Amino acid sequence: MTNEKPSERGLRPSAHNTATTTNAGTPITSDDFSVQQGKQGYIGLHDVGLVDKLAHFDRERIPERVVHAKGAGAFGEFEVTEDVSAYTCADFLQPGKKTPVLARFSVVAGEKGSADTVRDPRGFALKFYTEEGNYDMVGNNTPIFFIRDAIKFPDFIHSQKRTPDTDLQDWNMRWDFWTLATESAHQVAWLFGDRGIPSTYREMDGFSSHAFQWINEKGERFWVKYHFKTDLGNGYLPQDEADRLAGVDPEYHRRDLYQAIKDGNYPTWTLKMQIMPEDEAEKYKVNPFDITKTWSQKDYPLIPVGKLTLNEIPKNFHVQVEQAAFSPSNLVRGVGFSPDKMLLGRVFAYPDTQRHRLGGNFEQLPPNRPLANVNNYSHQGAAAMEFSEPTVPTYVPNSYDGPRADAEKSPGDWGRWEPHGDEPYRGDPYPHPEDDDFSQAHVLVREVMSEEERDRLVSNVVGTLGEVEEPILSRVFDYWRKIDEEVGNRMEKDFKDSLK
Ligand code: NDP
Repeated sequence: MTNEKPSERGLRPSAHNTATTTNAGTPITSDDFSVQQGKQGYIGLHDVGLVDKLAHFDRERIPERVVHAKGAGAFGEFEVTEDVSAYTCADFLQPGKKTPVLARFSVVAGEKGSADTVRDPRGFALKFYTEEGNYDMVGNNTPIFFIRDAIKFPDFIHSQKRTPDTDLQDWNMRWDFWTLATESAHQVAWLFGDRGIPSTYREMDGFSSHAFQWINEKGERFWVKYHFKTDLGNGYLPQDEADRLAGVDPEYHRRDLYQAIKDGNYPTWTLKMQIMPEDEAEKYKVNPFDITKTWSQKDYPLIPVGKLTLNEIPKNFHVQVEQAAFSPSNLVRGVGFSPDKMLLGRVFAYPDTQRHRLGGNFEQLPPNRPLANVNNYSHQGAAAMEFSEPTVPTYVPNSYDGPRADAEKSPGDWGRWEPHGDEPYRGDPYPHPEDDDFSQAHVLVREVMSEEERDRLVSNVVGTLGEVEEPILSRVFDYWRKIDEEVGNRMEKDFKDSLK
């Protein structure tokens, strides 16, 4: 795949009729020469056009995302095609409703310039610009995750990133973490299967991964999981092809997405939900709020809701995608959180990292600005752009008709559930019969994957073990034997054979 030519991207050769200006709008004297005192003299700080240009350039980069730094975004629409009003009163989920959406797909561990086709989960983040405020679903292309408690998140990410001394990525670190934090087994088994490297962003599913709450007009609550099923079917890249593409076209997935949309091949996904009545959670065979577990689709079949279509590429990547800030804390009435400890950690961490990356007024940037009115008492701060009429007070309570909170219109308590006791508690939640770390990974490897996919899984894992040392190496084989004995034994044999 090559870049489109400039003319295909809408650029036209022409005479330059527009005068270049400073960022304050003043026309400048020259694009080519800074001003000097005489032909070899010093350049002057009073050359405002020069200083303005260099100073802005010095500040072009913003901190990249700590995770999910490399990504691609596109705009589109979500249309509700079914009636799920029995489960949620969220306005944007009512029959026939259409809502503008921004989607961003990403790779987790690599930096902003890293290759698209590495083995890694993919971010699947959606911002719904609803009439009741922005609603973000910040999910992945997998329904599960490596850990179940946010307290481990920084450690997990450090193990996936780079060594402190040489700044190299390191499989030894990754396997060390995974084999010690064995709740990773399900996600790791997924990662080394075919879906660990999607063929394109268009051919992968998206999941909320976390359980959320839906609340209907009567106040009845349901636990739900979102599945955005690609209408193209899931596709994958074999490891050798992914490695080749990482060299010849590190932007492969981004380019594919933009080219498809430009060609009018709009990618679409069907949203399907798993819906669990509130009182079934305690009795379910696994803890339904543990993000390392799936709810079997045989127990909770997928219920169709609507269609997501992406039909517009960004006009400016930095403004509309790099500055997009997604957060699972963005909820609307009719949706609530669940007692998933990863989710509750992310509800804090996402807006926190956006404040660091983009500043305290990041919600005023174009991709984050809600279509709904913002009425509150936040004001000032760096780069403030929006402001209320001077007749609106900056404090509450007030006597001047300023906005007042309205519980009826809000997500209320942002989800409500039984805390099971008042004492401080650290540990796994109350037990469910199948709450172990390996059973679902086993089902995936033995029952869902085909024989050929299992062969590729073994080879994908063995290919990462060259730099792994004892005792971690033995732990890797034991970990895989706990997932599936035959697969673990085969990995050990194939690895040892490869050393002969
Ligand atoms: P089902 O037989 O109802 O579903 C199997 C699921 O596995 C389908 O969604 C299928 O997606 C997906 N799948 C197929 N190949 C792969 C692969 N290589 N990697 C990951 N997923 C794949 O079974 P259950 O719901 O009872 O779940 C059985 C196992 O399937 C689970 O342990 C879990 O590992 C995996 N799974 C479960 C999901 C869930 O939410 N219940 C979702 C995805 C996977 P498709 O229909 O697109 O082929």
